[in-house]
Order: sequence, then C-alpha cells, then structure tokens
Amino acid sequence: MTVDSSQVYFSAEHEAFRRSVRAFLDEQIAPHAADWDRNREVPRWAWLAFAADGLLGLNHPRSAGGAEKDFFHSVVFLEELGRTGFGGVRFAVALHSYMATSYLASGGSSDLRRRYLAPAVAGKKIAALAITEPQAGSDLTGLAATAREEGGLLIVDGEKRFIVNGGFADFFVTAVRTDGPPGSTGHSNLSLCVIDRASDGVRIVPNDCVSWRACAMADLSFGGVRVPEANVIGRRNSGFTQIMKNMQLERLAASITAIGDAAHCLDLTWRFLSRREMFSTTLAAKQVVRHQMAELLTELEAARQLVYHAAWRYARDPLSITECSMAKLKATELARIVAEECQHLHGAEGFREGSHIVRIVQDAQAATVAGGASEVMRDIIARSGYEER
Ligand SMILES: Cc1cc2nc3c(=O)[nH]c(=O)nc-3n(C[C@H](O)[C@H](O)[C@H](O)COP(=O)(O)OP(=O)(O)OC[C@H]3O[C@@H](n4cnc5c(N)ncnc54)[C@H](O)[C@@H]3O)c2cc1C
Repeated sequence: MTVDSSQVYFSAEHEAFRRSVRAFLDEQIAPHAADWDRNREVPRWAWLAFAADGLLGLNHPRSAGGAEKDFFHSVVFLEELGRTGFGGVRFAVALHSYMATSYLASGGSSDLRRRYLAPAVAGKKIAALAITEPQAGSDLTGLAATAREEGGLLIVDGEKRFIVNGGFADFFVTAVRTDGPPGSTGHSNLSLCVIDRASDGVRIVPNDCVSWRACAMADLSFGGVRVPEANVIGRRNSGFTQIMKNMQLERLAASITAIGDAAHCLDLTWRFLSRREMFSTTLAAKQVVRHQMAELLTELEAARQLVYHAAWRYARDPLSITECSMAKLKATELARIVAEECQHLHGAEGFREGSHIVRIVQDAQAATVAGGASEVMRDIIARSGYEER
C-alpha cells in the first residue's frame, strides 16, 4: 500500500537511482539482515558491496572517492535503506556515511581524508561516532573525556557509551575536552579527534542494546590513548560548533530512514491483514482496520513531505536546525506509533520473540532517543519558534 509522493523533489535520474538501490538492497542486503541482527554484525563483505555500488560516499568529495551527488540521492538511498525494515544495518550504514565520516568530509585535513575518509568511502574502514558518556547524553556540557597535550601527542582518557558500530569500527570520531582545567564543563573547549581502534589503551565492551542489534553497539573506554595531534578534526576547541552543524545531517538522516521504515511496516502489516481471515472475511476488509491504516498512511505522507522539505532546506543551508529537528521529531515519533499500532494489529503474532514486527518496534523506539530525544527536539523547536524570532 503506497501513496505516489509528489515529483517535486525527484528527477528521472533520482527515480532510476531508486530502482537500482532497491534492487541492490533486495538482492544483496535484505536476505542476510536477520542473520546479521542475530550475530550483531554487518560483515566486511557487505560494506565492500555497499561501496562497490558507490553508496558509502554519495555526497562525499570526489578527492576521497565520493560521488558528490546532490542531496536527494542520499534521500533516496536512506529512504530505501529504511524500507529494508532492519534498524541494525540501517543505522550501521547511515551512521558511517552521514554521521561519523561527515565530520571528516566537512572539517578534516587532507591528511585525515586520505587516511580515514577515503578508506571509509571504499568500505575498507568502518567509522563510529563517540560522543555520549555515562554522565552526558542530551546535555553535552557534561562531557568529561579529556585529551591533554604531551610531547606533540594528545593523551585521551574517558568513557563513551552506546556507540553504534563500536564492535567492529576501525576508527572513532570522538568528542574530547582539549584545554581548560580538570573537570571543566561547557561548550568552549570541546574538540573532535579520530582515534584508531588499534591504539593501545582502547577498550571495547559490547553493549547488549535490544535495538539496532546488527550495528554491534559498544561502550568504549580510553585509558591514556596516544593520539597524533594531526588526528584533530578542524580547529582545536571547535568541537561544539562542528557537532551542532553535523547533528543536523544526523537528525535528517534519522528522519529519512524513519519514513522508509514506517512505509515498510505499513506494507507488511497490510499484507498480514489481507491474509488473516476471521468472521467470514479478512481483517483488511474490516472498516475499523481500514480506517486505522488510512489514518497511518495519511500521517506518513504528511511526515514524508515534512522530511523532504527539511532535506530541501538542508541542501541549501546545512544549519536548518528547526526543519531538521521537526523532521526528526515527526518522522521518528510517527515510525514508533506506526510500529506499535501495527504490532497490535498482528495480534499475538506481534509478540513473538525475534519476529520481524517485534524488531521493527524495538528499532523504531530507539530512534526517538538516539541522536537527540524527542523532548530535546521539542525544546529546540519551541526556542526557535518563539524565543529566537
Ligand atoms: C540505539 C541508540 C544508538 C546510539 N548511538 C550513539 C552513537 O553512535 N554515538 C553516540 O555518541 N551516542 C549514541 N547514542 C546515545 C544517544 O545520542 C543518547 O542516548 C541521547 O543523546 C540521549 O542521551 P541519554 O541516553 O544520556 O539520555 P538523557 O540525556 O539522560 O535523557 C533521558 C531522557 O530524558 C528525557 N529528556 C532529555 N532531555 C530533556 C529535556 N530537555 N526536557 C525534558 N526531557 C528530557 C528524554 O526522554 C530522554 O530520553 C545512541 C543511543 C541509542 C538509544
């Protein structure tokens, strides 16, 4: 059950790209995604397959092997990735390309791009983004990991939590405090640096998060890790500005995958309702059920148009904070509601451990917290809508 969305944003080239991405995902990714969830891993060959189709660097610079396509190619890719219905592989890849390596593309030196971005676009190195800490999630002023200077190196100490791709990433784009007195807080002395997984003092502990299993969530601890000064991304102490800028892309990417996910969930539920017979008819023929599905489909179309609009704004101004926050709020909350209502419509089948619909619900719930909880999105929207006018 689909609504033909307006052709305002997509050209014939985008639609041809959509067909090729969908075929790639159907043939090479979806058949394995349940196994990857069980094993908590997206195997190396899959990263190479994404890269071989040019899907890990759609907007990244050509000098790093990227395709420098317009942003609506990424909208197509992320929406189709969402349509696979597997949060694990969806976020493993989205985080790699749109959340971690985006810092290297926008602020990394040519040396960092050569050592980390180019291999990441080629699928040879996998990226993770390490910001959240035990005492700092929504409020980044509490970040405590430090990088002190010693003999031309940075010595990093600290803890990171809930790191997507943490179990198999080759490098971590990490937020640290570079200057200031011990125990300092606030935004002013945050920096971003690349930490190699192979460095001495990096400890990786699996985090058994019930959602997005294939992305091998992990907690990290850095104990006296020696990081070359050249691994700092952009200017020292410009970390907060960089996070605020890249966060918009992260939130937009989350919103795009969420609408793909919700569309997939409605499709599979409609198929279930059409097969499920009772009281001499099918569930899909019951008016109450049809109306419920029609409401959800309408809400999805409204969210989709908001997300496309935010993408259009983002392509013109990467600091479209209000639009990206609205898109993240609306799309991830709607995907959660769709998932939970569809689970109910599956009856008892909706509660079978390890079933596809249970996974969809768990994955959709997590997306309303990761990358900024819905309450934080509402705070941002209220501030920009009323206080900053
Ligand atoms: C599946 C998943 C993947 C993640 N991946 C990564 C990753 O790869 N890298 C990384 O660095 N981090 C990652 N995170 C962490 C994520 O960014 C944080 O969970 C998020 O920022 C919220 O922080 P917190 O969990 O510490 O919750 P807290 O900040 O402690 O907030 C707890 C709850 O309080 C409420 N709340 C928060 N702020 C407000 C407010 N202003 N007003 C009212 N209520 C509020 C919300 O309901 C929120 O869920 C991931 C999280 C999840 C769930």
